[in-house]
Amino acid sequence: MTPIAQNLLEVRARIEAACRRAGRDVAELTLIAVTKTQPVAVIEEAIAHGVGHIGENRIQEAREKLPELDAPVTRHLIGTLQSNKARFVPELFDWVHSIDRLSVAQELGRRARAQDREINVLLQINVSGETTKHGASPDEATDLATQVGQIEGLRVRGLMTMAPFTDEVAIIRRSFRKLKMLFDELQVADIPGVTMEHLSMGMSHDFEVAIEEGATMLRIGSAIFGPRR
Ligand SMILES: *Cc1c(COP(=O)(O)O)cnc(C)c1O
Repeated sequence: MTPIAQNLLEVRARIEAACRRAGRDVAELTLIAVTKTQPVAVIEEAIAHGVGHIGENRIQEAREKLPELDAPVTRHLIGTLQSNKARFVPELFDWVHSIDRLSVAQELGRRARAQDREINVLLQINVSGETTKHGASPDEATDLATQVGQIEGLRVRGLMTMAPFTDEVAIIRRSFRKLKMLFDELQVADIPGVTMEHLSMGMSHDFEVAIEEGATMLRIGSAIFGPRR
């Protein structure tokens, strides 16, 4: 068995174990294999081993690699998007996890409509307040959801966050829990054009905590592919 196949087995087993602990159904979870820095052949190997969703964080890199992919796979943009790159998104990606400002969403909506596409978007929230992190503040979330929900060509499907970079599980857990609370509030608010179905949180070093706190999309790179080059 190749290292990637082995790693995928292990990651899936850990996801299942975390679901059992949390009393959750593994079918609620989407594993997104984060393929940034990985060459096309490696991505194709992962797809051959059952990966159905991949995540890239940079438009330039995605433009070089994704058109080469033959296998069908759902594509997620997980990194920051600048307005001037939005025009590349509709042909490359099905989902964008990193909407944190109205201006980018408006431009993306314009580009999606021009290409007759509908793009699924998540609002990226900076729950930890770390200034190094992108994302709207929790206080801005309702307004942003309301405004982005009105943009034709986009479908708001949930929220995304990145936990603080720390080994302290309590701090990581607190930030996931805050995002889940915000998610629940927005769900109850029932905002037009917004369906709160997905919580994108959890990476290689914290996905089990994320599952325990309600994640539905896991973005996992190095636990599958090994350290990035
Ligand atoms: C790189 C990246 C990941 C995956 O990180 P790993 O630690 O390799 O699992 C997840 N989310 C985002 C936004 C990333 O840029």
